[in-house]
Amino acid sequence: MNIVYSKLTRPAFIPSISEGIKLDLTKLMPHVISAIQDFGHDSVMLSVYDLTYGELLSSYGKQVTEDRKSVKQSFGFKNDTTVFLDSGGLESIKLHGRLLWNDPLDVYAFQEMAKADVWVILDHPTQPRVQVEENKRRIRETIEFARTINKIHDFSVPLAAVAHGHDQESLIECAKELARLEKVQIVAIPAREPFGTSMETKLLTLFKIRAAINEIDQDKHIHILGSARMKLWPFYVLGGVSTIDATDWLAYKANPENLSWDRHPKIVNAFCDCKVCKRFPGKTVEEICSMGPVFRLQHNLALTKLITDRIRKQLTSGNLRDYARKFNPKLYTNLMKYVPNL
Ligand SMILES: [Zn+2]
Repeated sequence: MNIVYSKLTRPAFIPSISEGIKLDLTKLMPHVISAIQDFGHDSVMLSVYDLTYGELLSSYGKQVTEDRKSVKQSFGFKNDTTVFLDSGGLESIKLHGRLLWNDPLDVYAFQEMAKADVWVILDHPTQPRVQVEENKRRIRETIEFARTINKIHDFSVPLAAVAHGHDQESLIECAKELARLEKVQIVAIPAREPFGTSMETKLLTLFKIRAAINEIDQDKHIHILGSARMKLWPFYVLGGVSTIDATDWLAYKANPENLSWDRHPKIVNAFCDCKVCKRFPGKTVEEICSMGPVFRLQHNLALTKLITDRIRKQLTSGNLRDYARKFNPKLYTNLMKYVPNL
């Protein structure tokens, strides 16, 4: 099995914990931590923003800054859990309308103190309703931040940089600039970008980014930020993606029939053959999820694991293309119009 980074195999789904989901995590946290330990993917994504400014999660961050604990110790994660530590540039922009840090070194210093396994450089996210000139300035700043960190970093910890664009072309250009930095091993692409484009266009952009990065260095990885849409996962992997993260598993219920995420109070009447649901024969996903939050979280993680395992198996045996076609025939046909050799 091809190890990608920090012991993760491709493709891996990284369950993300963020206060940005606007859910009261207070009661949920013990269940979240145990679900990740027992049914997770040996990995988790957290953000410096939440650990510094979060209403609940900053109490874990304080253990890092004041008690000098590693982030794993503060949450109680096992030593072999891979912790991605995002900068939280997006949360900062969303909640405050601006970046709370001007210096990427502040974020970097926290990641170092927290002893995280993958460090994501501070980025300045572009937004759909912002003037093009301002978005261009943010892209330049994102690249500048990455150059600053590239100068001081060594190769001891995998470094990720988030690409942004105001359209398809600028996103591709930004990803190329970041991939040229020798210490950046992972280029992260936000699943929502380029804004205002169809899913086909987003995937085609990803294929172009992969091709461009291959010309720079084939060993550089692509991570997709924020995509719980399992129907797209085989296509991401066809597009050369190694890892994907999302927060949806915290708030919703994974529907095994259409692989979407049902919101309360919609009922998932389907039966599921994930590791967790198989323990309760004859019970629907809804019935299992209503037994308590830990069952809902475990089902979500077990089903995402089942899907990534299947994709991994098809990738290893060289049958991923056929699998993607059967998995989502409509999307495959639409993509074939543009990429006949897909
Ligand atoms: Zn299940």
